Amino acid sequence: RAAHNEEAAAKSASDTGAPTIFDKIIAKEIPSDIVYEDESVLAFKDINPQAPVHVLVIPKLRDGLTTLGKAEPRHVEVLGQLLHASKIVAEKEGIVDGFRVVINNGAEGCQSVYHLHLHVLGGRQMKWPPG
Ligand code: AMP
Repeated sequence: RAAHNEEAAAKSASDTGAPTIFDKIIAKEIPSDIVYEDESVLAFKDINPQAPVHVLVIPKLRDGLTTLGKAEPRHVEVLGQLLHASKIVAEKEGIVDGFRVVINNGAEGCQSVYHLHLHVLGGRQMKWPPG
């Protein structure tokens, strides 16, 4: 429990609904290495990769989706688009032997940026259970 709290505190973020760095990435005010983009989603390389391939897939419109835990019926379409885009990203990145899609939710989930994002990880053997 203590370790969990330390991990969460180390990331020092909470769901305030404030704008995040991802708004600037969407607006292209700060650079990102874009892997895939369509009307609804943007996928770009994680700045601190945890695997040879580590891409974040985000909705362009946050619309209250600071976390997956805030999902409402109106979000079902974009949630599907995010998962589908994750598959496109895996294909584009050539991680054909397998990959992992992760959503960190809230403090105990180790979420640090409060704009929903899917992590697409691959290019190495994943381990289970995750930390
Ligand atoms: P999480 O900890 O699940 O909220 O994931 C947030 C992710 O965003 C982390 O893996 C960070 O490395 C990543 N990240 C933060 N800032 C940037 C940035 N400017 N460009 C790309 N990835 C970022």
